[in-house]
Amino acid sequence: MDLRYDTLYIGGEWIHPATDRTITPVNASTEEPLGQVPEATEADVDTAVSAARAAFDAPSGWASWEPARRAEVMDRLADAIDKRAAGFVERVSAQNGMPIAVAGQLEAGYPSAVLRYYAGLARQLTVTETRAGLFGGSVEVRKAPVGVVAAVVPWNFPQVLTMFKIAPAMAAGCTLVIKPSPETVLDAYLLAEAVEEAGVPAGVINIVPAGREAGAYLVSHPAVDKVAFTGSTAAGRNIAEVCGRLLRPVTLELGGKSAAIVLDDADLNLAEIGEGLFGATLLNNGQTCFAGTRVLAPRSRYAEVVDVFTAFAGSLTVGDASDPATQIGPLATARQRKRVESYIAKGSGEGARLTTGGGRPDGLTRGWFVQPTVFADVDNDSTIAQEEIFGPVLSLIPYDDIDDAVRIANHSAFGLGGTVWTADPERGASVARRVHTGTIGVNRYLPDPVAPFGGVKASGLGRELGPEGLAAYQQTQTVYL
Ligand code: NAD
Repeated sequence: MDLRYDTLYIGGEWIHPATDRTITPVNASTEEPLGQVPEATEADVDTAVSAARAAFDAPSGWASWEPARRAEVMDRLADAIDKRAAGFVERVSAQNGMPIAVAGQLEAGYPSAVLRYYAGLARQLTVTETRAGLFGGSVEVRKAPVGVVAAVVPWNFPQVLTMFKIAPAMAAGCTLVIKPSPETVLDAYLLAEAVEEAGVPAGVINIVPAGREAGAYLVSHPAVDKVAFTGSTAAGRNIAEVCGRLLRPVTLELGGKSAAIVLDDADLNLAEIGEGLFGATLLNNGQTCFAGTRVLAPRSRYAEVVDVFTAFAGSLTVGDASDPATQIGPLATARQRKRVESYIAKGSGEGARLTTGGGRPDGLTRGWFVQPTVFADVDNDSTIAQEEIFGPVLSLIPYDDIDDAVRIANHSAFGLGGTVWTADPERGASVARRVHTGTIGVNRYLPDPVAPFGGVKASGLGRELGPEGLAAYQQTQTVYL
């Protein structure tokens, strides 16, 4: 793959960037360059925000359209994205190391489904409601679009997480400036091509591939009305401070350290539960914010759980992300592998028992691979149980009874996801409700577009998806009549 672009998609046109700075995305499996795109700088961000502003403010522009008319454009965009499904899969998988089988299920298909779901919500949208006034007259309550949105996304699920922002923002009548992560820019170009083909009005979607400085410039830009961010907790805190100072609405989807609670009645037959367990704990090489990387196991079945998870992680096929048989690909960057390896060293150093993995796989001399790794006898207070590793590393923690399991699950700075594994779904749901997280699953986990997704505590603020996700792109205006 050698994909070269020399323009930026801003204001419905392909324009030349303000400088000749470039970004070179790299194949995570082979460490070879994949092409080159311009790196947007502050001047380009200014142009993009102006285009989004103009599209939003125009008296007969996007924001003023009937929601059903916007929905038609959204459906066309979903079709244009679907047409490019194979391209999205190939580009994402090459850039960030997501196994192509996983990319095929999530980075293609899921984003257009989210878009069509929000097109459906737009068609049912009631924008104004009239109430009889308490002291006479009437009052109109309007759900107005919030304005120009700065959308900053990470590299781990680039298209899914971009669409978590585009779809509700478009439905509400907002316009966006999207800043992809420098590791995953080639898929963003495919998205820009789809936006152009679908006839999305100029300035509604603008894309500025760039690093964190341009991101910081964008989120504090005076002409931006709302920030939607997905990424690390550290960057999220930074952005929250900026938005706090500016009194700017912000949605933050940050890191996680979710618990997978195995109850004493759980079916641990991997032939039955292996796929679900993989999706909930090791999806995308462990580079998934909601991954249940703390596995809590009852003492009564602890040895068995250790054996099952050790066999499970040890049996996964590790290899080039482009191979359909690959279950675990490389980490996205050299920096990410270094970080994961330093946590593995810390785990051993803090006394956890390594039961499988811990090193680099044999025979893979290029690409940022680490073996799927399991630590048993992990103390929940230890570094590997408290900090987000963002790699294929599981920590197995024993518990005494349900109260103890809930206490351990909740003893975390994070609160994004989680799972409960049990033969009795009702019992599982009652345990799930005691866990302080924004989302949790019983015997499965996959964010469903119809329901809010997001975290509490250090996992973020606000929710994406569902009608709640749409509300985050609206503000209410009251008109006394
Ligand atoms: P990151 O925070 O370093 O970068 C994310 C994005 O923000 C990138 O586009 C980056 O350029 C930009 N950025 C970084 N600092 C910024 C700043 N101060 N101002 C503006 N923009 C800034 O995160 P990452 O390493 O790319 O992604 C991994 C993290 O994302 C993990 O912690 C993971 O848990 C989290 N994540 C969370 C969710 C969720 O929904 N909660 C989903 C996926 C990933």
